[in-house]
Amino acid sequence: MGKVRYEEMLPHEIRTAREERALAYLPLGTLEWHGPQNAVGLDGLKAHALCCEFAAEHGGLVMPTIFWGDNRADILEIVYHPEKFTSLTRDHRPEVADAYGIPFEKLEQNARRAEETGGWTFFEELVARAFHQIESLGFEEVVCITGHYPENGPAKAARERYLVGGGECAVHVFIGYDLVSDEGYRGDHAAKWETSLLWALRPECVDASLTETDAEEPTGIAGPHPRDASPGFGREAVARMVARLGEHLTSPRSE
Ligand SMILES: [Zn+2]
Repeated sequence: MGKVRYEEMLPHEIRTAREERALAYLPLGTLEWHGPQNAVGLDGLKAHALCCEFAAEHGGLVMPTIFWGDNRADILEIVYHPEKFTSLTRDHRPEVADAYGIPFEKLEQNARRAEETGGWTFFEELVARAFHQIESLGFEEVVCITGHYPENGPAKAARERYLVGGGECAVHVFIGYDLVSDEGYRGDHAAKWETSLLWALRPECVDASLTETDAEEPTGIAGPHPRDASPGFGREAVARMVARLGEHLTSPRSE
């Protein structure tokens, strides 16, 4: 793979790549529990690595991932309890806080603070500004990947804000699995899908020996059991998403 990470490139390298295709990728992530077997940055790591695969196939350059500024009331650490998710048999929040070795009250306090100071508003503004900045750098099209699913709505709101504010780039917002949901793929939280993707894209960020293989309801995980994850399934899914992205791209490409 040639160089595609914008922040690592020299001006003349950027110019050459951008003149081949004026397409930028913006990965969005967060820091959130993804089971004992996955790195906490899974959403952003997955989105960034996926964008690098997109760039290798379709051209374009990958912007640095946004890991900060999301609504901290909308993370597993805060929401994963039976009153909110009725299928759960227990409150997972104390277990997660325990695994980190921090008091749940501190997380809860910060979630309340995030809600009181506007929830997702700051993130929307941050992403809208990123779209404007990307346009100012000479790009004509942006693919934004919302690795953390709750960021999808705010990222689409950011696109509206950007367009209303005079933005001229074509902007697409995808989660990733929504590119291939018509092929039967489904997203999950730290379960078979997400664990397989990270395992395929960033194997050093997964330790499958820590998967709670025997647990009926593994801690802080939602979806098909992660014991069925595999890097092979992840690679197959990545290949499908890479292939299907092409249907949405409109910026011209010169070889
Ligand atoms: Zn995730």
